[in-house]
Amino acid sequence: MYQADETRYENMPVRRVADTGFMLPAVSFGLWRNLGDQQPYANSREVMLKAFDNGIFSFDNASNYGPSNGSAEETFGRVFEQDLKPYRNELVVTTKAGFHMWPGPYGEFSSRKTLMNALELSLKRMHLDYVDVFYMHRFDPHTSLEEQVETLDLMVKQGKTLYVGVSNFDAEQTAAITKLFKEHHTPFVVNQSSYNMINRSVEEDGLLDVLRANKLGMVAYGPLAEGLLTDKYLGGIPADLPIHWSNKLSLDQGSDKVVGKLNALNDLAKDRGQSLAQMALAWLLHDAVVASVVIGASHVDHLLGNIKAVENLTFTPDEIAHIDTILNA
Ligand code: NDP
Repeated sequence: MYQADETRYENMPVRRVADTGFMLPAVSFGLWRNLGDQQPYANSREVMLKAFDNGIFSFDNASNYGPSNGSAEETFGRVFEQDLKPYRNELVVTTKAGFHMWPGPYGEFSSRKTLMNALELSLKRMHLDYVDVFYMHRFDPHTSLEEQVETLDLMVKQGKTLYVGVSNFDAEQTAAITKLFKEHHTPFVVNQSSYNMINRSVEEDGLLDVLRANKLGMVAYGPLAEGLLTDKYLGGIPADLPIHWSNKLSLDQGSDKVVGKLNALNDLAKDRGQSLAQMALAWLLHDAVVASVVIGASHVDHLLGNIKAVENLTFTPDEIAHIDTILNA
């Protein structure tokens, strides 16, 4: 029988979103495409339990994660049922809906019917009574914000989620929905968006400022940009790398240029006694508005190596300036 490591809370910093009661480990674990139906279950279980043993008490899911829709939540549910159930009060489990989940007009976006059904199915797949955060996975340009907010508020009132979040909402969209959530007194705490050293759109469009001004947190997904910010591609980026849409723009400058920047960053990471991946995660966490970085890994050694990032989260002003110079070149 699985027994969680008793030292699990010793090394992982816990970060609070402003003055709310919502707290996350500096590093969260995501199940987008690394632990679904195409992965051996034993490996998925090992990675998840290693994460929990090392202070990662937050697991991020979505209805459409897998690769096959629902299969990542099923993997989570199996490990939960087998091993993590006794620890439910310690876990922060998050899920989302809004990308394509099933056929027909109610299979995507954020109408009341879509979101309510999606959450119900997610709870069943994960063997949970409630999630800790339910996110709208993307902005829905067709359904009124009022309907979206009322639906999430209802989920909270029904006890199906404790907090709510939005994902992939830009600065303007976030500011607009924040106003409505405040009117409804809905516990809206985080925006989950793509953020990493080579994709800084959340800084550029003012989203981080909106979050700071409203006492909300950023959950940075894809912090290693499909593995670009590891030592994997220092020798070159394959043309067929399956890059997430949110990072595509970063490659527009040409892969040779990006590889040059990655190598310069890698040199700086070495000077700091870190791997490039560790420095990339630490860099995100040097800003207090970042509540957590959500990493994905199907290899335990990647997971364990990357979370050592928390051993050095401090950057000198010179290091920050040097990073900006490399990235802006
Ligand atoms: P990462 O940026 O952490 O990238 C993970 C990839 O990097 C994997 O391919 C992994 O390989 C590789 N990797 C990690 N560490 C190393 C290393 N040390 N050396 C070499 N390769 C390494 O995150 P993801 O893009 O996977 O996203 C993380 C999570 O963010 C998702 O699971 C999901 O929860 C969330 N997300 C949310 C989205 C949204 O729209 N809200 C969109 C996308 C992601 P390996 O698998 O071999 O270990």
